[in-house]
Amino acid sequence: MKSNLDRAIELLGGAQRLLAFTGAGISTESGIPDFRGPNGVWTKVDPSEFTFDKYVSRPETRKRSWEMRKQSGIFDAQPNAAHRALVDLWVAGLLSGVVTQNIDGLHQAAGLPSEAVVELHGNVQRVECLECEAGWPTEVVIARVNAGDADPHCPECGGIIKVSVISFGQAMPVLEMQRASELATACDAMLAVGSTLSVYPAAYVPLEAKQTGARYVIVNQGATEQDHLADVVVEGSAGEVLTAMVRELL
Ligand code: NAD
Repeated sequence: MKSNLDRAIELLGGAQRLLAFTGAGISTESGIPDFRGPNGVWTKVDPSEFTFDKYVSRPETRKRSWEMRKQSGIFDAQPNAAHRALVDLWVAGLLSGVVTQNIDGLHQAAGLPSEAVVELHGNVQRVECLECEAGWPTEVVIARVNAGDADPHCPECGGIIKVSVISFGQAMPVLEMQRASELATACDAMLAVGSTLSVYPAAYVPLEAKQTGARYVIVNQGATEQDHLADVVVEGSAGEVLTAMVRELL
């Protein structure tokens, strides 16, 4: 009997415009914890403490956010085999792009050109002032935190500064959502990797692809909210499964 991995390879084998949709699970093998997996960040802290409104109104929330950023390991992380497998598909001309919920920049670090990556939830490597929109590399601001400024403000206007990621309660980036939707409706196969597919509106992207006729494959450890909609679900490590898939597809 064929395994789900074999069936997934068969389904993706005929695709000309494969679109990947990635979540935090693709980066756990790089040492960055996910949110909702068994060791996820939300098993340790309450997400309702980190809404956009609380960040803006409470110095304590901002201080905790900077501390958590420092300890997250996200700034030292390196791409893993799953990120590299997607690059191999791109180089072979089989991948139309990657729509990611991740904020770690590891798809680009692995070698995907920035125009191939749509970041729906922003990128943690940049910090912006919420008042005057001045911006800095995050390492510059982390250095200020390390030097004792636990709640750093904008040196230009004194405004509140925040990493350029979308927090709960913050609006989605319009251009990125449009681009993701265009890619989803144009693809002939959707490969969702390392996501519970439970965060909306991002999780509409694979649904849009499926509704416009794309084949739909999910690779994840554990159940997702869209397993019942996929043509094949492959349970397993993103690094191992994507490496095996790409070996067969190229
Ligand atoms: P999630 O935490 O809801 O789900 C991650 C899923 O991946 C879980 O089902 C988990 O079991 C699975 N998983 C973990 N390691 C895996 C592996 N090696 N191989 C295959 N599957 C694995 O994450 P989500 O669906 O992306 O949604 C949560 C939000 O998390 C997103 O908005 C994203 O911005 C944010 N986030 C991003 C990062 C990052 O940039 N690396 C890290 C944490 C959270």
